[in-house]
Amino acid sequence: MATTAAEFIQQSLDDPETFWAEQARRIDWHKPFDRVCDTSNPPFVQWFPGGLTNLCHNAVDRHAATHPDRAALVWVSTEVDQELTWTTSQLLQEVMTMAAALQELGVRQGDRVLLYMPMIPEATFAMLACARLGAIHSVVFGGFASTSLAARIDDARPAVIVSADAGSRGGKVIAYKPLLDEAIALASHEPAHVLMVDRGLAPAAVVEGRDVAWSTLRARHAHASVPCAWVDATHTSYTLYTSGTTGKPKGVQRDTGGYAVALAASIPTIFDGHPGETWFCTSDIGWVVGHSYIVYGPLIAGMTTLMVEGLPIQGFGGQPDGGIWWRLVEKYKVSVMFSSPTAIRVLKKQDPALLKRHDLSSLRGLFLAGEPLDAPTAEWIRDGIGKPVIDNYWQTESGWPILTLLNGVEPAKTRLGSPGKAVFGYRALLLDEHTGEELTGANQKGVLALGYPLPPGCMQTVWGDDERFVQTYWHSIPGRQVYSTFDWAVRDEDGYFFILGRTDDVINCAGHRLGTREIEESISGHPAIAEVAVVGVADALKGQVAMAFAVPRDAARVATPELARALEAEVMKRVDETLGAVARPARVRFVSGLPKTRSGKLLRRTIQAICEGRDPGDLTTLDDPAALAHIRGAADAA
Ligand code: AMP
Repeated sequence: MATTAAEFIQQSLDDPETFWAEQARRIDWHKPFDRVCDTSNPPFVQWFPGGLTNLCHNAVDRHAATHPDRAALVWVSTEVDQELTWTTSQLLQEVMTMAAALQELGVRQGDRVLLYMPMIPEATFAMLACARLGAIHSVVFGGFASTSLAARIDDARPAVIVSADAGSRGGKVIAYKPLLDEAIALASHEPAHVLMVDRGLAPAAVVEGRDVAWSTLRARHAHASVPCAWVDATHTSYTLYTSGTTGKPKGVQRDTGGYAVALAASIPTIFDGHPGETWFCTSDIGWVVGHSYIVYGPLIAGMTTLMVEGLPIQGFGGQPDGGIWWRLVEKYKVSVMFSSPTAIRVLKKQDPALLKRHDLSSLRGLFLAGEPLDAPTAEWIRDGIGKPVIDNYWQTESGWPILTLLNGVEPAKTRLGSPGKAVFGYRALLLDEHTGEELTGANQKGVLALGYPLPPGCMQTVWGDDERFVQTYWHSIPGRQVYSTFDWAVRDEDGYFFILGRTDDVINCAGHRLGTREIEESISGHPAIAEVAVVGVADALKGQVAMAFAVPRDAARVATPELARALEAEVMKRVDETLGAVARPARVRFVSGLPKTRSGKLLRRTIQAICEGRDPGDLTTLDDPAALAHIRGAADAA
């Protein structure tokens, strides 16, 4: 038995079969697996093939059998002023009811169910109900608008879409149904049914024969008993879209058994979370953090998960309350909390006394992920709440942390600015971008890559496109078949990694990943725009924000500052309407040309350097130096 974190990690690399067979005992298997790991077809890997299990059984049923009265889900909404709790047995019934409703709408094992939902408990019921039936859920973040949604509908080809009339943010109702109807009209694939949760927040048009009310089916199936479908460990549990370097989002495809084992292993070792305790993750179910650490992870581990709809600075009754999260920690005796650096930077604008006003004695640690955690933010919150603050680095693709500390195995010291070391199961490498050579020296900058095979829980492939999976992730570094994270990193002499930003055209805004190409495609769809470049620029609050440099078709459209402002507003509106406000650039600046290489490749990194006041580096490939001057002028004006 390993006693130190280093031994634990070493064992996972030296003898993965034994290590993961041991971890697999953390979940229930209906039938044991034939093998721990099938590596006969690299870069693909199958974890626990032949084993039959079910995510919902492990998250709900097994705990309902042993602890029927233990709280499983607490939902708090400061948007609609509600606080509700479901015990494991009540959650089981809700999930079975939802599963019966989906079955009535024709959902069968392997079918896709797309969820376009706000942070309401029905979203959790629907995810678990899909897992129960062996249906594949695909949650689309509620902040995305119709064009983004339509692209995902066409890729996932769902049998059913589950949605709601509206979400609410800061008291402002955001109607979902019109966006959904528009997306379905734009998409070539048409779902057979839309299951609608009516929150009574916004009127929603009903398409006869297609749209069905959750309240009707819920009443009909209130006492339904729907057994779990025992699926192979390699059965796809869900797809989740994420941005890449092309305009087309990638459906990250995840298995069942490997994911359950990875999450079950991560909760005690990384997060030091234990059955019967309360877990509070402030993310959204539309992101991978929400999948792994609002829904599946804590529930599989027998913890109570606290799901919150509301802003971090908003209390009940529409009152501002910068201490709402700490109030909830006290009330629900949260022991593990998971949030993002951006959320903490929002809190930083509040009175620090709010951090001391509540009894946080139940809380053991605050975990932050999704974007680089700057030292001042880490120190501010650590000192403010007097608890360890632990950075963890991962991606939609990995499904669980890649770099962090294993405090549950052995208490470890955090190093400011570093998420920590490679987690068990991950063969982390730093490679030279051009030669593929491994960089073993301290503080050498390289691309963070992961050796084959990826551990359980990581993506199986890109949904419907194995070739894209292989080409995108496994062929980007010359001469090596390794998985690229597309992040730059260095490692210090003690093995602590420091992430230095993306190697590709993906930006990270408030912990949300956005593809600059997607935003560019949306903006170039505006009839007045000839060409556009979107780059991520450092921002004190959100980490990065998108900034657009657009070339108008007709210079007269931006002849005066008023005209330019009007066109900027139009462009932003277009992004809101097609991709969603989440992708809206912070600024749109108009220029007469964009810097490109002689072969026509847009020099995004050069533009980004100029915007951030850095040296743009080697400009020998630049075609027209005047274009650079335009960007400089526009960036200065911004
Ligand atoms: P996503 O797939 O949306 O979760 O985005 C993953 C990307 O976010 C990573 O590839 C990193 O660029 C960034 N990221 C996530 N967590 C961290 C972290 N703890 N520190 C630095 N960057 C992070």
